[in-house]
This record gives sequence, C-alpha cells and structure tokens, in this order.
Amino acid sequence: MSVLSHNDVTHLFGAILENTNDLVIILQADDADPAESTIAYVNPAFTRLTGYSLAEAVGRSPRFLLGPNSNTDARSTIREAVRRHEAVRAEILSYTKSGQPCWLDANIVPLRDGSGRVSHFVAIERDITAAKTLEEKLTRMATRDELTGLYNRRHFKDVVEREIDRAERYGHSLALLSLDIDHFKRVNDDHGHESGDRALVEFSHACAAALRATDTLARVGGEEFAALLPETPIDGAVWLAERLRATIAEMTIEHRQRRFAVTVSIGVTAYAGSGDNLSGMLRRADQALYRAKAEGRNRLNVEAILQPVHESV
Ligand code: GH3
Ligand code: MG
Ligand code: MG
Repeated sequence: MSVLSHNDVTHLFGAILENTNDLVIILQADDADPAESTIAYVNPAFTRLTGYSLAEAVGRSPRFLLGPNSNTDARSTIREAVRRHEAVRAEILSYTKSGQPCWLDANIVPLRDGSGRVSHFVAIERDITAAKTLEEKLTRMATRDELTGLYNRRHFKDVVEREIDRAERYGHSLALLSLDIDHFKRVNDDHGHESGDRALVEFSHACAAALRATDTLARVGGEEFAALLPETPIDGAVWLAERLRATIAEMTIEHRQRRFAVTVSIGVTAYAGSGDNLSGMLRRADQALYRAKAEGRNRLNVEAILQPVHESV
C-alpha cells in the first residue's frame, strides 16, 4: 500500500472537485470586507444544479444566488462568521438560473495561505431541497386540516394556551368563538358528500376573509370550527361573530349545478382573567353554542362568566 504524496493529492484534488456531487465554490477573500469576497471557481456540480456556468459565476458575490424568499437569518449568520474568519454552516434558500428555489446546506471554511493570511473561502454545499420539502409537508400535516387548509384542533389548542399566557402577562383581552354549521347532515343528505365538502371549504374561506390576520381560525371537527381573537373584548367578539353569522347566511354555495346555502351557530366567550384556562374557555364557548342551537340556530350566544374550574387541563 502506498501513501499519496503531497503532489499526488494536489493533482487528484482537481479531479475530485470536478466529480463530486456536492457544490464547491471557491471565493477570493476580500481583505477589506471578507463578506464582499467574490467567486473564483465553481465546480460542475454547481453548474448542474444552478444552471450558471463557471464564466457566469466568476467575479460575482455568491449573493446572486439569493432571491425573494431567501432566509435572512442564514445570510447574517454567514456574513458575521466570514467577517470573523470563522467556519460556518447554514441552510440557505437559493435560486437557480431558471428561478427554481433550492435549499442548500452550506459549509463555509476560511482557507489560509503559507503566511497564515485568509486568502480564500471554500463553500461546500449540498442540495437538501427534497428533505426540506418533506419537512415542510410534515409540519403542515401536523398542524393543518387537509380539506380546508385551516389549522387543526391540536394546533388551535397550542395557540390558545400561548395566547392565554400572553393575555395574562400583558393584561390583554382574548375572545374565543365556537362555530358549528347548522343541519349539516341535511346538506350531505340533500346534495351529496362532495357538495358538503365544497361547503366546508367555502365556509372556511368566508370565515378567514372576515377575520383579521392576528386571529386564528381552525377546523376542530367535521363541521365544527373555532376562532381565537387576541386583544378583543367580549363586545368586539360579539360584533365580529354577528358579522360572520350574517356573511355565512348570505353566501350561496355552488357545486355541480346545485345552489344551496348554510347557516352557522356561534358560541362566544372571553378570557376571564387569571384562574381561567384552555378547557374553561372551550367549555364556555361550547355551552354558548349549545344554547344558540337550542334557541333555533343561525344565531349567537354568549357565555362570559367564569365558572369554577376543578380539573386541570
Ligand atoms: P346541528 O345543527 O345540530 O349542528 O346539526 P348537524 O346535522 O350539523 O349536526 P351533526 O353533528 O349531527 O352532523 C354533522 C354532520 O357533518 C355529520 C357528518 O355527516 C357531516 N360531516 C362531518 N365531517 C364532514 C366532512 O368532512 N365532509 C362532509 N361532507 N360532511 C361531514
Ligand atoms: Mg357538529
Ligand atoms: Mg352542525
């Protein structure tokens, strides 16, 4: 077995760079500001993925690979480390020449010359788009309802707990709505399950459009929904719920040459101060909803009084 000489390694190094599937970018260090270093070499794997040839990349800052949604946290992590001549690893959303987004796991290392001066940086980058896409899909599946795209019950409960903490800490008001579509079984019976699904989607869109960006809307059951309204006192929540109710009552759903309408009943409650909790709020909203149903549906009811809560969440 023979050990490679330094010369052999140098000779083989080029072939390795040309054949690896990882992207390799060598930057000429800018002494005045290392974050302004420019590209001196890119390997064929770089060109294969990004579509930019060596000639197109050389002399430019690697920033040209960034785009509208590139993550600024990774950018600043890289910039700061490079300025301190430190190695850094970051996942960064980049864009190919044709505008395709791709996630790159980048390992950036300063290279020193014989005198110890940082003369170059090398960025060794791996395409992790497939893993990132899967990660995003799994996160979405864990927090969202597939049919309507709204948050699911689990995520809604997490948001309520977080917002209760905030309401308590800052003395904010916080309101919760429990919504249930009236006689939805009849919609399925009269128009079919697919039209029922269509109604659920349109109902979701209409509710989302009527709420504010800071509100959280979730599908918590089949035809049951909930909305959390931060920094909203009970009278504001009643006003909003009434507007929601009226919007839904006026809406016509069209599906496969069928036109029909639905109505919704809404229970309204508000955070009652320290001692109140998730289960208390959900229970009060549901009690109010139950009364709205009993009183004839297509209406709201309010349950604002804190009742003794014995069990913990
Ligand atoms: P109420 O006014 O008392 O709420 O009457 P309801 O018929 O809406 O109440 P119930 O809870 O008895 O029935 C809800 C129905 O919602 C039963 C089920 O067939 C339907 N449903 C639940 N999930 C879905 C879904 O994802 N798609 C469709 N099309 N229907 C659903
Ligand atoms: Mg129901
Ligand atoms: Mg119902």
